[in-house]
Formats: sequence, structure tokens, C-alpha cells
Amino acid sequence: MLNRRNFLKAGAGLALAAAFPARAAAGAGHVVIIGGGVGGATAAKHLKLTNPALRVTVIEANRSYIRPYGSSEVLTGHVGMDDLVVSYDALKSKYGVEFVFDTVTGFDPDRKQVRTAGRQTVAYDKLIVSPGISLQYQAIPGYSAAVAETRAPSGWIPGSQTALLAQQLKAMRPGGTFVIVAPPNPYRCPPGPYERGALVTEWMRRHNPSGKVVILDPKDSFVTDATMQLGWHRLYGYDIPDDYLSDMPADVDNRGKPSPIEWVRAKDGGTTERIDARSLTVTTRGGAVKADVLNIVPPMKAGKLAFDMGLTDASGWCPVDRRTFESSVHKDVFVIGDASIADAMPKSGFAANTQAKVTARAVAAQLAGRAPGEPVWGNTCYALAGSNYGLFVADVFRLKDGKIARVSDQRYLPLDASMAKIRLGAAYQQAWLKTFTEDCFA
Ligand SMILES: Cc1cc2nc3c(=O)[nH]c(=O)nc-3n(C[C@H](O)[C@H](O)[C@H](O)COP(=O)(O)OP(=O)(O)OC[C@H]3O[C@@H](n4cnc5c(N)ncnc54)[C@H](O)[C@@H]3O)c2cc1C
Repeated sequence: MLNRRNFLKAGAGLALAAAFPARAAAGAGHVVIIGGGVGGATAAKHLKLTNPALRVTVIEANRSYIRPYGSSEVLTGHVGMDDLVVSYDALKSKYGVEFVFDTVTGFDPDRKQVRTAGRQTVAYDKLIVSPGISLQYQAIPGYSAAVAETRAPSGWIPGSQTALLAQQLKAMRPGGTFVIVAPPNPYRCPPGPYERGALVTEWMRRHNPSGKVVILDPKDSFVTDATMQLGWHRLYGYDIPDDYLSDMPADVDNRGKPSPIEWVRAKDGGTTERIDARSLTVTTRGGAVKADVLNIVPPMKAGKLAFDMGLTDASGWCPVDRRTFESSVHKDVFVIGDASIADAMPKSGFAANTQAKVTARAVAAQLAGRAPGEPVWGNTCYALAGSNYGLFVADVFRLKDGKIARVSDQRYLPLDASMAKIRLGAAYQQAWLKTFTEDCFA
């Protein structure tokens, strides 16, 4: 029986419960995040912003992050390797995110425990995995991780190979050829190989004016291809292929002269069949191409950890429930970033960042006993055709019939954009590198 005093006490309790619905229960949750890259760091920050009472632990193999986005600028000396290093200090001090620096080797989904190489066991209520990509060196006959570390770097996961490639470019003989082997879809950073080709071409005009860039491609098109080629045409005298000409602005005037940048598509024989690492020769369907510096961006799959945890399907990527990015294989495990299958969304940092924000809210909602909200994701990939020549692809995505669909149609910088807008695009790209890093890590 409730007397008046007890009733008032109970009433006060009820009022408190109503003011903070399920908040205390949500605070009891421990979210563990594997991978402190773009996806993992953003998820950690946004879990804490959504509910500061949550305990959030990031398990990351390295003590600081080396950002892949903007890493092609190391090749041209615009930034150094040190400029790519991002600290985890702000996530710790400003948001109270805990860090374990160790390599995850596997997990027990029944006990909800993660295992590390350093023999630590970390228990979770919800697990977010953002392990990035693995480079399939062996998919190209003659190529291997050892060749990538010593002779023909990839540099698509930044580190020692990026530094080696920069050294090789600087030491290239006058008039030498810098060959980029572009990857098949899907891969990390769709405009990336073509932006890299452009930046190296621009650099060579000043430092090796008779040098040349050749991009060998197993595809016939790439995202931003029309705007990128227009930039190559204006800056480097590149002849735009006939099938792109009809949409081009009036100033386009193919000269029929060799350009310092060449794009060899699949239909023109650009698909690589094998490489000879000793002579730096690429055998393509169209014939042999001899390189002085050989940069191979090999086929990609989800990061090794995703395979070790059994999160991948036959495609080599991780199937997820598109609303929350909860794994289709394991309950209470979420896969975000490049490793996930996200339909129309590209494998980009921007995409990983918005996936992380949506998933952080979905995880916090689940722990609080609420249904996740209606997701909206975005992506903008800026790219440079030269250091003052910017372009972009920008998209908004929503759920449509259980898949992630693009809902915006004005995607690219218009082909008739003024030079002022193009220069502004380059300034936006530089500003984005800074503000984006802050958005993820600070
Ligand atoms: C040259 C280049 C240019 C790019 N430019 C852009 C751009 O302009 N815009 C853009 O949006 N994107 C760009 N990107 C792509 C972007 O960098 C990636 O899409 C993004 O980093 C993906 O985030 P992620 O969290 O999936 O993976 P990552 O950022 O790679 O993070 C994965 C993390 O997981 C950790 N990890 C992996 N396995 C384990 C394990 N077993 N245990 C513990 N830790 C582990 C790794 O150490 C790493 O820190 C570019 C990429 C490249 C290569």
C-alpha cells in the first residue's frame, strides 16, 4: 500500500524516469570500436556526443592515424609524411573515448568478446568494425607485397610505400614515364588514381618537363571522368576522347599532339595482365608499357580483419542491414566505412564519416531501447586536376527498397563552370582536408 509519503517518493521517481527515459540504462552500455580510422574515430566521437554516459573504447593497431585522403600530395612535396599524421588526443581528452592500442585477431560473438594480438580480451555490448581495405597484390601476376614495398609501390594505404613513391618520382630520369595502374571497381576513393595522375603531371612540368604520366585502366569510365579530362585538356593539352566531346564546352580544341598525361581505357587495351617487377614493364591487353616509376593500385577487398571475423560474403566485402549497418552475419556487430557493402555510396572518407554518424545514433538508440531513425547519408569527393583546378562529385543518399540509393541528380561541377568556380573548388578541397580531419578526430 502506498501512503502519501511513499506515493510522493514514487511519483518523484516516475517524474525523473520520464525526464531521462532509459538514459541510465543506455549509459550502462559499452561500445567497442575496432579501427580508429575515419569510420571508427567518427563513430567514437558521435557516440559520446549522442550519449556521454556511454562507455566507448577504440581498439586500434597504431598509436596515431596516417590519413589516406590527401596523401597523393606527398608525391609532389605539397605536404610531407608528417602532415598526414593525425593524433587521437582530442578524442581522449575532449570526449572521454578510451583507447587500446593493439591488433584485433578475432572475436567470440556468443560471449561478446574481442581478442587482441597482445592477449587482451575486451567485452562489448555493441561492436563497430571499421577496418578499411586490404590490397590484393597477388591478383596481378608478378606483383606482391614485397614488390610493392621495394620496387613498384601502391601507396593506397599510406605509409612507407607513399614515401618510397615520392622518392622514386624525384629520382626519375629526365623524360621518364610514371605509370599508374588503376584498379577495377569497387575501390577506395574513386577519383583518386586520376587525381594522382594529374598532380604528378603538374609536378613534372616544373621538375621534369619531358616526363610523362600513363594511366592504365581496366575500366572504360570513372567518376568525375568528364570534368577531370576537361581539366587535363586545359592544363596539359590532353586530347579528350571522341565519346566525351559532345558535352564539352566551346573552348575544347583537340590538337592531336602528344600530351604529358595519357589515359588508356579497357577498350583501348588498358587492362593489366601481368607485370615484370625487375624491368618495371606492364603487360596490358594492348601491349607492353615500360615504366620508369610504377605505381600500382591493385584490386581491393575489405580489411583482413573482416575476413578473420567472418564478416565478409563471396564478394570480399561485408553485407549489412542498410538502415543501421548492423552485420548481416553477426548480431550486435556493425561494419562501416570502406569494408561495408553500401550500394550507391562510394568507398570514400566522406562516406565512412556519414555512415559512422548514422550508425552511432542507431547504436545509441538500440542501447536505449528505441528504434533507429530514418537514415540520410551524404558524400562529396573533391579532386584536383591541378593545384588550382578543383572539381567534385556530391551526392545525397536515402534508403529505397532496402538499398542505399542516390537521391540527388546534380552531381558534378558543371562542365561550363567558370574558372573562378574551378579555382574555388581547389580552395574548397584544401579547406575540406582540414575541416574534415577535425570533424572526425577533434
Ligand atoms: C590517395 C587517396 C586519396 C583519398 N582522397 C579522399 C578524398 O579526397 N575524399 C574522401 O572522402 N576520401 C578519400 N580517400 C579515401 C578515404 O581515405 C577512405 O575511404 C577512408 O579512410 C575509409 O575509412 P575507414 O574507416 O573505412 O578505413 P581507414 O581510414 O583505413 O581506417 C581503418 C583503421 O583500422 C585499423 N585496423 C585495421 N585492422 C585492424 C585490426 N585488426 N586491429 C586494430 N586496428 C585495425 C587501421 O590501422 C586503420 O587505422 C582517399 C584515399 C586515398 C588512398
